Amino acid sequence: MSKFLAPDYESLVPYTPGEQLNYKVIKLNTNESPFPPSPKVKDAVSGELIDRLRLYSDPEVKQLRKAIADEFGLDAENVFVGNGSDDVLAFSIMGFCGRGGEMCCPDISYGFYPVYADIFGVNLEEIPLEDDFSIDAKKYCNKGKTVVIANPNAPTGLALSSDDVEMIIASNPDNVVIIDEAYMDFCKTSCVDLVRKYSNLLVCRTFSKSHSLAGMRVGYGLAQKELIDDLNKLKFSFNPYNMNSVAIAAASAAIADNDYYSKNTDKIIETREKTKAELAAIGFEGTDSKSNFLFEKHKTIPAETLYKELRKKGILVRYFSKPRISDYLRITVGSQEEMDALISALKEIIKELS
Ligand SMILES: *Cc1c(COP(=O)(O)O)cnc(C)c1O
Repeated sequence: MSKFLAPDYESLVPYTPGEQLNYKVIKLNTNESPFPPSPKVKDAVSGELIDRLRLYSDPEVKQLRKAIADEFGLDAENVFVGNGSDDVLAFSIMGFCGRGGEMCCPDISYGFYPVYADIFGVNLEEIPLEDDFSIDAKKYCNKGKTVVIANPNAPTGLALSSDDVEMIIASNPDNVVIIDEAYMDFCKTSCVDLVRKYSNLLVCRTFSKSHSLAGMRVGYGLAQKELIDDLNKLKFSFNPYNMNSVAIAAASAAIADNDYYSKNTDKIIETREKTKAELAAIGFEGTDSKSNFLFEKHKTIPAETLYKELRKKGILVRYFSKPRISDYLRITVGSQEEMDALISALKEIIKELS
């Protein structure tokens, strides 16, 4: 730390992203898609667009907001877009909690929520998950503070029912409820339809997981116009050009190619279920994940050992040395070939260690 960093930020503990290595590994640690983006994305980002990069991007991001709105039967005024959904979450927590404000989220969830609370000076209440890692929706009702929940949750993969989500939104009419649906395409119980009904709901989504565009950095928020106007007010006060022209073109092409992405999503769900059964056969047990990752522990071998041994064999998974979840590995569901390689590596490791 230099002597110049403002005291406000001295104690900041940054988010720790999963490793990105520049040599070839089987990468099952950051929940990316094993499939390339739609061919329509490649068409959209070539040639003419490159020539136009001398111009600023559209600060209102009209093309992409319209494309996203069309997909959900909403209007462009109901869509905010950001440089990854992390950007959308940051503006939302900044804007709807405020300095010295209050928010709550589960104690085991996306690692960025506490980091944003910290950097924006928000008091965070972390509500413990139940022993089986589920979220008890009643604990999020009538909170009198901003509520942030990932549905399905990460890293557990467990989803709340649509009724529970609506109960939480309905019982907090004076606070914004942020439902982070980063993995919802693998679960298919989205609460986007409630946007028309509730003025306090903000649904956050991303192109990084189901839409194979993690490197492009595009996420979006869906809400009634007033909330979206607030987010735009913050964005235009901070970084009006948060979306670059290439990202806008790529994501606009991607969101419209449902055929391509729903096939990929179905394949990942199928591979998820198959892999879960294969893991169970070699001594793992895990949650009923509704996302594109599995959350699993082995009955005898510690997760940290498995993580290190897999790494030696060129397979990266995610291990969190955090209370309550240090027995578990979070394993991204990759292609069927990648999962086959994972299972045979695990079989070898288990044999060597038992
Ligand atoms: C991956 C993830 C995000 C961030 O996605 P980006 O759009 O890549 O910033 C947000 N929330 C959860 C729960 C995630 O797992």
